[in-house]
Amino acid sequence: MKRSVIVLGAGMVGVGSALHLLERGHDVLLLDRKTPGRETSYGNAGLIQREAVEPYPLPRETGELFQHAFGLSAAVSYHWRAMPTLIPRLAAYWCASSPKRYARIAREWSTLIAHATSEHADWISRAGAQGLVKHTGFRLGFSHATSYAKGLEKARHFHDTYGVQFQALDSDALSAAEPALTRRFVGSVHWTDPWAVNDPGALVARYADMFVREGGRLTTGDATTLRQTAKGWQIITADGPQEASDVVVALGPWADDLIRPLGYHLPLFVKRGYHRHYKVDRQLTMPLLCADDGVMLAPMAAGLRITTGAELALRDAPPSPVQLAKAEKIAARTLALGAPVEPAPWLGARPCTTDMKPVIGAAAHHRGLWFNFGHAHQGFTLGPASGRLLADLFDGSTPFIDPVPFSPRRFEA
Ligand SMILES: Cc1cc2nc3c(=O)[nH]c(=O)nc-3n(C[C@H](O)[C@H](O)[C@H](O)COP(=O)(O)OP(=O)(O)OC[C@H]3O[C@@H](n4cnc5c(N)ncnc54)[C@H](O)[C@@H]3O)c2cc1C
Repeated sequence: MKRSVIVLGAGMVGVGSALHLLERGHDVLLLDRKTPGRETSYGNAGLIQREAVEPYPLPRETGELFQHAFGLSAAVSYHWRAMPTLIPRLAAYWCASSPKRYARIAREWSTLIAHATSEHADWISRAGAQGLVKHTGFRLGFSHATSYAKGLEKARHFHDTYGVQFQALDSDALSAAEPALTRRFVGSVHWTDPWAVNDPGALVARYADMFVREGGRLTTGDATTLRQTAKGWQIITADGPQEASDVVVALGPWADDLIRPLGYHLPLFVKRGYHRHYKVDRQLTMPLLCADDGVMLAPMAAGLRITTGAELALRDAPPSPVQLAKAEKIAARTLALGAPVEPAPWLGARPCTTDMKPVIGAAAHHRGLWFNFGHAHQGFTLGPASGRLLADLFDGSTPFIDPVPFSPRRFEA
């Protein structure tokens, strides 16, 4: 039966939800305070990560933890002032990263990521966005023999367990394949399944254009004006008040601003990240992750985008330039890095949950309230697949994967 639904948030996850609901014949209004794809879904490394079959655990090896705790690695940095707020979240994340719990979480997570590229494929061609996407995969460059050995071991495990494809390259093979490199890596793992998008925000915008072309309505407004009414939900938009029987919260790192006042205290937190574009005379042929440093170098339409690892800080705390400065030094050691394109770095926040899985499904205590957020490091990848799962649950049809591991109810005692 056709229902009216308001989707709050037009990042990759909101647009993915809106498109799937529209395809099922529902009357869909998509709302954002900005134009689609201008926040986290704009600022990422642009990878559609079919290889990301296991989520990021909190390191449990003492050496790695020590490096992170004292800011010795460029992959993770901290705002010490945020720690009193973040410690309960990090403690829960630590527990979820125990080998036994993590094995189960990874199995569950892999069922969703298995559909990453296939769920984007049809939309990319229908949206006429083929020019934004390259099927190159991406490479990991290792600086040390020990980390390369570990990287290869992990690649073989992903291949044997999940069927993910990769190629190993030694130092010479990597230098030959990537002439822009000025640095010798010890070796490389080339994940061949992922896709690389050279303007992630533009892909979201193309999907949103397709949504409107196919009959969806797009508007601007503040999601926090949402109110429950006798018939369903009402929100104030630039086009006046709008009503619907159902509402989907797809607000990424801002989801908590809406759901907490409604009484949902989910274990959410953010891992912030920076990017900046740089001019280069010679571009990389595909994205390269400097694996020992957690620094990604991604060729984009706007230049070479350097993206950083995780900054554990409060979402709205002022930017701290430390991590990007470290990343810039690493990039300058890796290739001939030119001047920055923008006057200041971009800062965004990965929307995370303590059990590393997104929250997808019906809210426990409000009729017609749906959640789709918390996709952490892979929301750009997972928007279409998690939109399908949400739409399956919304319609009461047989879900295309088991929805229980992603249910909002999993956090209820
Ligand atoms: C540095 C970095 C690199 C990354 N690299 C990758 C990658 O290569 N591949 C990958 O898959 N993922 C990557 N990610 C993660 C990915 O970007 C996120 O998981 C994803 O973008 C989350 O999408 P979203 O739609 O949930 O959130 P968003 O894209 O942030 O969308 C939320 C929307 O809600 C809107 N909104 C918020 N509050 C309100 C309000 N009150 N009223 C109205 N609208 C509101 C915002 O304007 C925004 O458009 C990376 C993240 C970072 C930070």
